[in-house]
Amino acid sequence: MNDVGRQFTPRHAIIIGGSLGGLFTAVTLRAIGWTFEIIERSPHELDSRGGGLVLQPDVLAALRFAGIRVTDAIGVPSADRIYLDRDDAVVYRNFMPQTQTSWGTLYSMMRATIPADQIHSGEEFVGFEPGHGKVRALFASGRSAVGDLLVGADGPHSTLRALLRPGSLPRYAGYVAWRGLAPERRVSERARSLLEGTFAFQQGPGHMLLEYMVPGEDGSVRPGERRWNWVWYRKVDAAALPALLLDRAGRQHSYSLPPGTAKQADTEALRADGRAMLAPAFQELMAATDDIFLQTIQDLQMDQMVFGRAILLGDAAFIPRPHTAGGSAKAAANALALALALRNDHAGIDASLREWQHQQREAGYRMTDSGIAMGQQIMSL
Ligand SMILES: Cc1cc2nc3c(=O)[nH]c(=O)nc-3n(C[C@H](O)[C@H](O)[C@H](O)COP(=O)(O)OP(=O)(O)OC[C@H]3O[C@@H](n4cnc5c(N)ncnc54)[C@H](O)[C@@H]3O)c2cc1C
Repeated sequence: MNDVGRQFTPRHAIIIGGSLGGLFTAVTLRAIGWTFEIIERSPHELDSRGGGLVLQPDVLAALRFAGIRVTDAIGVPSADRIYLDRDDAVVYRNFMPQTQTSWGTLYSMMRATIPADQIHSGEEFVGFEPGHGKVRALFASGRSAVGDLLVGADGPHSTLRALLRPGSLPRYAGYVAWRGLAPERRVSERARSLLEGTFAFQQGPGHMLLEYMVPGEDGSVRPGERRWNWVWYRKVDAAALPALLLDRAGRQHSYSLPPGTAKQADTEALRADGRAMLAPAFQELMAATDDIFLQTIQDLQMDQMVFGRAILLGDAAFIPRPHTAGGSAKAAANALALALALRNDHAGIDASLREWQHQQREAGYRMTDSGIAMGQQIMSL
């Protein structure tokens, strides 16, 4: 097709995964005039699945590029980073302002801008057929779709990656993150006055707890309606993982336990450890949390993100350890860079994709390498 014809035929992307990586890709490609459809295996809206996250400049840049209005309601600011000892004494304080938001806040902001007919929920991607400058994606329902680009934003256990590079699996890093979100009001005035406005840590031999405040479940940032987001990193032998990942209904999970599914004996043991090991303010957060959840820490680095017209981004390509506070920022940066590369694709889509891969792969290695180094140090591995 010549350039004149191209102006009137928008390019089309088939995006696998309707989580943050997929949504960032959709809204940034839309901003350069592409059309898209999102294929999401889960039949439900995903907005209650995530915890808190640190709001990074790459996320704001992608949202602004996409024309999504960002207000102060996007998150809760903190000023100091503090480290507590076992008795709630502040042993270290450093001014390091930042804003914390929640996975659900970012998800809802982007999801609200996408018409329902562009998201196929409950549709599972199972395969693809490359063609000349096109790609056909195949779904479990028997349906298929054709686009100019197939984007694997399908997360750490990406189906597209498994098809492109069988055997390229994330590696367990030797520790897990127990996580929770406690309603702001359930915490005493004493703990609140110590923690409010901070990003707080407690570090001990082979474990670390961190806490920061995030918007409420409904996105509210009003005092009294927010939530305390806490994460406790603890070592777990690989051999003990399957038992831990067996949920209270007897279902075996592979990598994480959603809120409310961990066995009571495991959460009780965790709470008992918390009472023995943690600062009283952190013990309060744990006591005020109904549904503790679990994520295993994993590593993944892909040396290739572009395979013809099929590409991998977000956690499907690189999984940064959470110490980088960069997983969603990397997904946003991958998506924004993709849109910028494709906006000026004078040399054609394939050349733009190669250039995009070159930049994003280097950035992926840098972030994941630094997360691995931080994790080994924090966990004394
Ligand atoms: C303990 C922990 C703490 C974290 N903390 C932070 C933080 O502070 N800051 C931060 O930025 N990030 C953090 N992250 C990471 C962040 O959540 C992710 O990096 C980010 O959301 C990008 O994920 P993604 O969209 O690529 O993949 P995912 O969120 O995993 O989404 C993949 C989607 O693809 C769908 N899917 C999968 N296979 C198929 C298929 N075959 N067909 C159709 N759909 C499919 C899935 O249902 C899912 O919705 C943390 C992660 C962990 C584990």
